Amino acid sequence: MSTQTASRVPNFVGGNEQIIDAERLLSLTAPATGELIGDVAVTSASQLEAAVNAAEHAQRGWAAQTIKDRAQVLFAAKRLFEENTERIARIISLENGKTVAEAGASVVRGIECIEFATSLPQIAAAEVLEVSRGIECKTIRFPLGVVASITPFNFPAMVPLWMTPLAIGMGNAVILKPSEQTPLAAVEVAKLFQEAGAPPGVVSVVHGDRETVEAICDHPRIRAIGFVGSTAAAKAVYERGTANGKRVRAMGGAKNHLVVMPDADPEMTAANVIASSMDCAGQRCMAASVMRAVGDVDHIIGLIREQMSTIQAGDQMGAIISPAAKQRIEGYLDRVVANGAELLLDGRNQVAADANPEGNYLGPSIIDQATPGHEAACDEIFGPTLTIIRCKDLEEALAIENGNVYGNAAAIYTSSGEIAQYFGERASAGMVGINIGVPVPREPFAFGGWNQSSFGGGDITGRSAIDFWSKAKKITTKWSDKYRKDWMS
Ligand code: NAD
Repeated sequence: MSTQTASRVPNFVGGNEQIIDAERLLSLTAPATGELIGDVAVTSASQLEAAVNAAEHAQRGWAAQTIKDRAQVLFAAKRLFEENTERIARIISLENGKTVAEAGASVVRGIECIEFATSLPQIAAAEVLEVSRGIECKTIRFPLGVVASITPFNFPAMVPLWMTPLAIGMGNAVILKPSEQTPLAAVEVAKLFQEAGAPPGVVSVVHGDRETVEAICDHPRIRAIGFVGSTAAAKAVYERGTANGKRVRAMGGAKNHLVVMPDADPEMTAANVIASSMDCAGQRCMAASVMRAVGDVDHIIGLIREQMSTIQAGDQMGAIISPAAKQRIEGYLDRVVANGAELLLDGRNQVAADANPEGNYLGPSIIDQATPGHEAACDEIFGPTLTIIRCKDLEEALAIENGNVYGNAAAIYTSSGEIAQYFGERASAGMVGINIGVPVPREPFAFGGWNQSSFGGGDITGRSAIDFWSKAKKITTKWSDKYRKDWMS
């Protein structure tokens, strides 16, 4: 068993930071500098048991509060997150490598989810209806108990904030298991909810990798899992969690396509395509990394190339999460030509001269003339690459989009309302953008994809998430026998 170190990232259990010893330690490195930040102890099944016990104890008292009282904690949390946005953004930037501005924007987006949850007393109120004269049906919601939220590296605070406010607002205690590559921000998230008034144990953090996730899937007193990550892991968690009788809503990977029509506004389209594919160095589940160029849009591709070639990684663009991820992306660039496409812009030449040589930097790349089956058009590269497929018409573009196994997001650029409507109705994706490259539905609209981007049905935010984090009881009542008799009475 390894010994404790000063730089060990703490779990947060029962309201306290907890340094654990572990059989396995994972090193934590800053993507932008290559510096060792500390190490992450992989939480074992028995250490998870202690966290579940503390969470279960806290949840009983928390569930006994009214939803209006719990909402007061969410109001306080919203204010605290606003006050701490810059501080959390810096932590995210350190552990994830994205720019502080990108990290700050993601925290702001997470705060919107807290804001939505403050409205739970209004939107999750009981429903009552007289269903037959003198007979009333009422639906009331109950928390599930202890639930878990397992999150990816790319949005270390925002994705926990998709789930935690609604889950605790509905009276559950949440155990967060953040990515082992970005464990720091989640601890801050948990501490801020506690500072806002959530009793110790209502929001906990355990660190680890697949081993810890599997212990969560197997734990009999964890009632539900919200998962966000790659498709392979989402599917594995969905299958293991549901086999153990849990509710699981698992969001997976993506390969988002955007269609550019010849009537699209050139300047707006170019700027949007670049932002969608390159922000956060392309490490976004909403990144549109495939562009389907319909007809003659060479003038727009020219603008995209011209503007992208001014972006330097290590300056305007943040780092790739790890050396291994960078190598994987470079592998795709190495194989572009051999696989029959063209490298219109090579990101390996797009790194700022003064970028830290130990940072995992890779600039924007454009892969043109790809066939629909090209690996760069099909695989989730999860880096700063834009693959262009030339199409003769919208039908061909739609067929390629809908042949894609994922279904997170799709977008179209056009000045025709008719074309936009046609596309919006036919694209096989849970989130569609019309002249918007990152069509994230802002609260109260819900975030969630289709096909291999989502397992378990429903969305990860919004109203269906309220249902996911609670169970409904239906009570049918009669107090008087004076009304007419029917099959109900
Ligand atoms: P990942 O799947 O490697 O890790 C996500 C979480 O799952 C982590 O907490 C990790 O510890 C755990 N995990 C990893 N492998 C596992 C396994 N085999 N079994 C059980 N648990 C496992 O994902 P990542 O690399 O951290 O994040 C990037 C991925 O997340 C991309 O595919 C991206 O599209 C996806 N993502 C999806 C959404 C969405 O809403 N659909 C949002 C953000 C990110």
